[in-house]
Amino acid sequence: MDSETSLSYILHHMDEDNLPGNAVSPPIFQTSIFCFPTFAEFRDAINDEVNHSLYTRGNNPTVMLAEKKLAALEGAERAKLVSSGVAAISHSVMAFVKSGDHVVCVEDCYSWTRTLLSTYLARFGVSVTYVEGTDPGEVIAAVRPETKVIYLESPTTLTFKLQDLPAIAAEARKRGIKTMVDNTWATPIFCNPISMGIDLVIHSGSKYFGGASDIIAGVIAGSKEDIDLIQEQEFLQLGTVADPFMAWLLLRGLRTLHIRMKAHYEGALAAARYLESHPKVESVLYPMLDSYGQAALSQKLFRGGSGLFSIQLKTKDIRDVIKFTDRLRLFKRAVSWGGYESLVFPNAVKYQNPAEIPPDRLGLVRLHIGLEKPEELMDDLSRALGTIS
Ligand SMILES: *Cc1c(COP(=O)(O)O)cnc(C)c1O
Repeated sequence: MDSETSLSYILHHMDEDNLPGNAVSPPIFQTSIFCFPTFAEFRDAINDEVNHSLYTRGNNPTVMLAEKKLAALEGAERAKLVSSGVAAISHSVMAFVKSGDHVVCVEDCYSWTRTLLSTYLARFGVSVTYVEGTDPGEVIAAVRPETKVIYLESPTTLTFKLQDLPAIAAEARKRGIKTMVDNTWATPIFCNPISMGIDLVIHSGSKYFGGASDIIAGVIAGSKEDIDLIQEQEFLQLGTVADPFMAWLLLRGLRTLHIRMKAHYEGALAAARYLESHPKVESVLYPMLDSYGQAALSQKLFRGGSGLFSIQLKTKDIRDVIKFTDRLRLFKRAVSWGGYESLVFPNAVKYQNPAEIPPDRLGLVRLHIGLEKPEELMDDLSRALGTIS
């Protein structure tokens, strides 16, 4: 890495060496509007809102500082910070489809991505084909003449299926189809999809970027042309503003991202290896395990892994899943992930009526390995697994 792209340059120096009052931490520009000394400067800003701070629904200096660092981390020309990961997903897809168009998407994608495609965009005559995604040939075979977008999430964050990003990107590019990938799991610390030929990288900043389970944020990174288009069409229109304080908290989270990711990786690998050898665990779905079904692809895509993976408990009885979940003490019972704390999310919790749980997903439990001591987490898991008959 040269000095302009090194992590410490991006996180410590980029646009921060001459802050007002010699502050080390950037100011929060808590303002809705920006003033102009003259008619001419006012006119230039109002006619090119994407490149000026005119009104905080468009741009804001605190938000732009976060965007510049996020773009650099992903090796992208530009990034846009938006109010949530779901806004980032919706904007990215909506910018490139119109009535009559078609999207190919991985079937185990984030739940709201699926709702966007199957329910929301269906109202506007956009159709979707879902693919398993592990075979690039299957993904490309689903392409039709009217396909405009291939939407990926690698890995999917319940079943941890990987897609061959470079292979799919190369085929899509030949056909003029936009590729986008949800990179929330790996973060730019471990994976840079733009370097693999992917057009748009999407993140929920509510996970590792914030890192403290206290913000909701979304990021889209890509070419200046694509991000400018999304800002003009979707972002300014739908008003999914990242507020300055959220951007500031996200910037603060980014300072320690690489340190936290290393710790999440070490903890998750230790816990995954332990669970893999446990008699009450059927399988462990962590892409960084040598035994993982797609280990070769995982090596190609990722420099490391995050703290999130699933296990399949060796049981067909929901009472075991309930006992395991309730017995955990250090793992808190909650949705989401990416903070300092360990979490458990049993797939069965989504169903009010247990009869509706698909049998192969009854024992599926997602774990987030936080920043606690791995040995203590393994003790907690061991105690909880001991309750399974
Ligand atoms: C949480 C999450 C999202 C949605 O992000 P929000 O910030 O909650 O809107 C999208 N994709 C993945 C993989 C997520 O985990």
